Amino acid sequence: MSTSIAEFTPEEIEAARVLFAHESDFLCGVVALDGLPEAAGVEVAFAGRSNVGKSSLLNTLVGRKALARTSNTPGRTQEINYFTLADEIYLVDMPGYGYAKVERTRVEAWTQLIRDYLRGRASLRRLFLLIDARHGLKPTDIEIMELMDEAAVSFQVVLTKCDKPKPVQLDQVIAKTLKTLAKHPAAHPTIHVTSSVKLTGIDMLRAEISALAAG
Ligand code: GDP
Repeated sequence: MSTSIAEFTPEEIEAARVLFAHESDFLCGVVALDGLPEAAGVEVAFAGRSNVGKSSLLNTLVGRKALARTSNTPGRTQEINYFTLADEIYLVDMPGYGYAKVERTRVEAWTQLIRDYLRGRASLRRLFLLIDARHGLKPTDIEIMELMDEAAVSFQVVLTKCDKPKPVQLDQVIAKTLKTLAKHPAAHPTIHVTSSVKLTGIDMLRAEISALAAG
């Protein structure tokens, strides 16, 4: 299958708009697997390096100013945060990774929690792997991809902060990312190109989630 940028029809985008017009609320923060809420219909997760723009993207997706907390302390949040959308979808905010100052034991605890979560969560339809468009893929992102391949959990790359690089640089990052994804069996073949500042690609990402929820 060839890889490219995700696209949806106007009908699919409209269905997503209706879905995302519903309430989104914080459900719970989880530090251990036995605290996970009972599985709902559909669950999608968001992961990425600290400071990738994950909180901003989640808030933009659900149209709330501060649903997911934008944190100035990278690596501080170690919880898996659950948000509900329209009472039927769980949006799961995974703790940011790749912050050098976090002690080794905490990194290990994080990796173990994520590994167990990925393996054991049947309702998890997809993990959105957020990548900063200014930097492209880093070694820790590749490690997460390998974790996903191992756990056989479908993941899809979402480029963030796409308002920042120049168009030619953005094109290069997209091409390089797609090339790497082709080597990962759990990778979804299309990617999303987004900006929370310019609202680029938000409709398409909503449509992706809406399509997953529709089955
Ligand atoms: P998190 O640590 O992954 O949750 O990242 P945040 O959402 O807190 O964002 C980290 C920094 O990037 C903040 O200063 C945001 O204002 C900035 N940021 C987030 N999204 C965008 C975006 O789409 N464009 C630009 N230019 N900056 C962004």
